[in-house]
Amino acid sequence: MADALTRFAAFAALFALFALAETLAPDRQGAALRARRWPTNLALVAIGTGLARLMGPVSAVGAALWAEQAGVGLFNTLDAPAWAVVIVCVLALDLGLYLQHRALHAVPLLWRLHAPHHADRHLDVTTGVRFHPGELVVSAVWKAGVVAALGAPAAVVAAFEIALNGFSLFTHANWRLPAAAQRAIGGVIVTPRTHRLHHDRDAGRASGNYGFSITLWDRVFGTWRVAPEPVRLGIEGGPDDPARLGPTLAQPLTDAPAR
Ligand SMILES: [Zn+2]
Repeated sequence: MADALTRFAAFAALFALFALAETLAPDRQGAALRARRWPTNLALVAIGTGLARLMGPVSAVGAALWAEQAGVGLFNTLDAPAWAVVIVCVLALDLGLYLQHRALHAVPLLWRLHAPHHADRHLDVTTGVRFHPGELVVSAVWKAGVVAALGAPAAVVAAFEIALNGFSLFTHANWRLPAAAQRAIGGVIVTPRTHRLHHDRDAGRASGNYGFSITLWDRVFGTWRVAPEPVRLGIEGGPDDPARLGPTLAQPLTDAPAR
């Protein structure tokens, strides 16, 4: 319970911070349509939170606790120094998410679940939580598997989950980072500028920058892109009005946009 409360407090604080930042220093001009997009994107968080409750122990932290008790997974059977466990677990979890994101785009059935995230025609802090419940289920099962295989400590997993959430809010925020900051961290950390390229409506241009937090895996696997600002955001196809909740929830069944 305390864990859920900590996560919610961290989410609320970071959401407020990036919402303020993108209001004061927006990067991309254009219709944010907050009054229409935000209720849908935020409703998806509420649905996702309820779903996580229903799934109970099928979660990253749940898997860590189970693996520890059952003595399953790499670091529950291997005696390694704490610093090494933390570093390997964080990098491996991040790699797991990078590979998951590649699969969400490459496998047609998974793309149906991920496409509602890409259907948003503007990017801001709420796009960072706009995920279809079906994608959240796939992600929870995949993360639980990676965590159990690693035997990652629950505290590391919990911290990683909070950071992941924060990065998703940050990389989707329409915040113009100070130029010096973009130069200093933009090559190492995924920023709104670089992640936005992944939301280009042109599928060819969007086939890169899959990383959530660090640029390392995109560089390793040759998907790192530095390109001019996208002209249009979103996907070809998809619901007529991706700002509405009903069509967004139905999208995996009604629509198979090309990618
Ligand atoms: Zn994507």
